[in-house]
Amino acid sequence: MERSTRQRTAIRNTIEQSERPLAPQEILALAQAEVPQLSLATVYRNLALLQEAGEISTVLLPGDSARYESVHLDHHHHFQCQKCERVFDIPGCVGDLLNSVPRGFVVERHEITLYGTCKGCGPTAKAGGKKRDVSGAATAHSHSHKSHGH
Ligand SMILES: [Zn+2]
Ligand SMILES: [Zn+2]
Repeated sequence: MERSTRQRTAIRNTIEQSERPLAPQEILALAQAEVPQLSLATVYRNLALLQEAGEISTVLLPGDSARYESVHLDHHHHFQCQKCERVFDIPGCVGDLLNSVPRGFVVERHEITLYGTCKGCGPTAKAGGKKRDVSGAATAHSHSHKSHGH
């Protein structure tokens, strides 16, 4: 009994302290620092319990397995890196889009996911390293991407 409480606490803390939504495998790896005997099955079981108790929220991306994040976060959106598949939080929202629904329609919720390459996987991460042919379009970017701000 006491052991399972400790496992659940470790899993909850891992999610609360993370700056981005975590997949069960990521939660396992991080929470094992605190509870080394943790297994993936235990992580899944506790995720279901924590979710049921409203202590964590689920991040579902189309075609991908669920990730978990704190319920205490402000409204935000997600960015998924297409190389490492990690998901990151993007603060802010898109007001114009929400105001563009036709008269008489009521928006109750929305989810927006941006896809691309994270900083750790991007071209600046390992200049000179293995150059994969991902950015056919981006090779001719010397002018268009220069402007910071706008
Ligand atoms: Zn990445
Ligand atoms: Zn939003």
